[in-house]
Amino acid sequence: MRDDIPLLVDHHCHGVVRRDLDRASFEALLTEADAPPPGASLFDTRVGLAVRRWCAPVLDLPPRVTPDEYLARRAELGFAEVNRRFLASAGLAALCVDTGFNPDALLAPDELGALANARAHEIVRLESLAEQVAATTASADAFPDAFREALADRTRNAVGVKSIAAYRAGLALQGERPTDREVTAAAAGLLRQSRPRVDDPVLHRFLIWCASDLRLPIQFHVGYGDADADLRRGDPLLLTDLLRELTTTGTPVLLLHNYPFHRSAGYLAQVFPNVYADVGLALHGVGDRAPVLLDELLELAPFGKVLYSSDAYGLAEFYHLAAVLFRRALAQIMDAGVTEGSWTPSDASRLTELIAAGNARRVYGLPG
Ligand SMILES: [Zn+2]
Repeated sequence: MRDDIPLLVDHHCHGVVRRDLDRASFEALLTEADAPPPGASLFDTRVGLAVRRWCAPVLDLPPRVTPDEYLARRAELGFAEVNRRFLASAGLAALCVDTGFNPDALLAPDELGALANARAHEIVRLESLAEQVAATTASADAFPDAFREALADRTRNAVGVKSIAAYRAGLALQGERPTDREVTAAAAGLLRQSRPRVDDPVLHRFLIWCASDLRLPIQFHVGYGDADADLRRGDPLLLTDLLRELTTTGTPVLLLHNYPFHRSAGYLAQVFPNVYADVGLALHGVGDRAPVLLDELLELAPFGKVLYSSDAYGLAEFYHLAAVLFRRALAQIMDAGVTEGSWTPSDASRLTELIAAGNARRVYGLPG
């Protein structure tokens, strides 16, 4: 097994909780399910088994301890030490943190960066910002300019934005930029809500085009997510019209997660020059099947278009677990190619560096 995989750039991740967790609250964060099924445990999943195998040693336990032994040791160490250990062991050079969803008082980007000994960057969630703007804008006529100003201001120190259209209107968005008249009409509906919630396709498109005008890389949630996401509307092929239009602008588009549509995402990454893809979240979600998943993405996706992300959220374990599984999967794929004679060892090193860090640095313009 190659152990020379460089430090990773985790281009999509979130904060982790700053509190101790009992078994029920730990299991609630372990998968995309809100809670364990009656009479069963979410530790009995590929990801649960992978936590016992790969995370236990970071807490000074032998691999494959029972869930209760694992959680007892976690409680004994306390959340601050647990967070420190898992962030430090992830082997990150940089991380790009989505700050748009923070219901649980999660660690902020600079805190995560300090624990990981890595440079932390921010990704601004478009819909969250639009909802803040809507709550403080007096008239729908003023909304388009108010949002443009807020986005320019809010992203001054950010490296990209994220759209959660998949969670709201779905990904079947028209490609063309909406007119200000269309946006104003849609904004009128938004401003009438007591708690504004963006779910109008016109508004999603407007936010995306505003980000494109600022030359900001745009991340899209695609595929795998919690029960709020309607997976039938999260297929990346539904984005084809918009990707075709965005390609003419040169705006980088990053398709996140993608499972179970990762092969389609690989296709889109091949045919559209500015489209990139990862298998974050799913990679640790499938546990020891991670090499299969990454290999399937890399069937069609150019190696210069695939990025690493953990999509860690809530549990610090996922920073470590995703990194371990990704390193092992990538090494296995690269080693198999060398053994097979498909590529040379120096090809393997070069391609590994691209996928681990180089592609993300290039797309987001991160310092080396
Ligand atoms: Zn995420």
